[in-house]
Amino acid sequence: MIILTTTAEAHEHSRRRACKRVLVPTMGALHAGHVSLIQLARASAGVNGEVVVSIFVNPLQFEPGSDYTRYPRPAAADGKVCRAEGVDLVFQPAANEMYAPGRSTFVKETSLSERLCGGSRPGHFRGVCTVVAKLFHLLAPAAAVFGEKDFQQLAIVRRMVRDLDFPIEIIAAPTIREPDGLALSSRNQYLNPQERAQAPIIRAALLEAARAEEKLSAEIIERVRSKIATAPLARIDYAEIVGADDLQPRLMIEPRSLLAVAVFFGKTRLIDNVLL
Ligand code: AMP
Repeated sequence: MIILTTTAEAHEHSRRRACKRVLVPTMGALHAGHVSLIQLARASAGVNGEVVVSIFVNPLQFEPGSDYTRYPRPAAADGKVCRAEGVDLVFQPAANEMYAPGRSTFVKETSLSERLCGGSRPGHFRGVCTVVAKLFHLLAPAAAVFGEKDFQQLAIVRRMVRDLDFPIEIIAAPTIREPDGLALSSRNQYLNPQERAQAPIIRAALLEAARAEEKLSAEIIERVRSKIATAPLARIDYAEIVGADDLQPRLMIEPRSLLAVAVFFGKTRLIDNVLL
């Protein structure tokens, strides 16, 4: 396994390699969700291809005062996971390696980013698009894998790739969950035992909504809100029904409607979604 830490090395490596390279961008603290992405990357790259995992806690996508400094960075454990999964290359730059002082150029998607997480985390998707565009340039993959747990991020990356002509296939990976339904997330480790015990209410509410007979979005959202409210430690950030492709609100449930929620437990914000 090769480990590169500078942009110059990454550029040089990209120029040299001719095999199919597939990238899995992450912020580290790797869990079984990330592992499933790495395995999809291997399947797409083939035995002679190259699986690249980037591990970078991207300061640009954290709002001021959020969890950037305390975000977990278990470098040794992450290295072990990558080795065990047969990852060929890990790109793990420091923040000052990725962002020169006085940087003033960003990539901003201006439609899909407006609602949902973009509404409650201004600047977040500008940070995501900027770093993903940089990783695409630096590592020049033929394909990249993104999780459906971050459905809005996946839609925005697809849009950016289309709009900016990146010659990169985007592969969507299904959400991996704990046995009780909670979507795996590096942030789950922030939850205290009481919060952890109540967090599966998110998935339970989404599944109940997916089974519901109602056709009016407002009724479904009301159902989701009251279900989540039965967990005393939960505080809903948003619960919205949007079209899965344009991420615009839907008054009625129609094919490819997406129910997406963000819920705080204490300071920890968890997201999940289901196609209705
Ligand atoms: P993160 O390290 O949280 O930025 O996530 C890196 C990638 O892993 C993103 O494409 C996420 O959507 C994906 N991911 C995170 N959690 C899960 C999960 N539980 N199941 C599948 N993919 C996930």
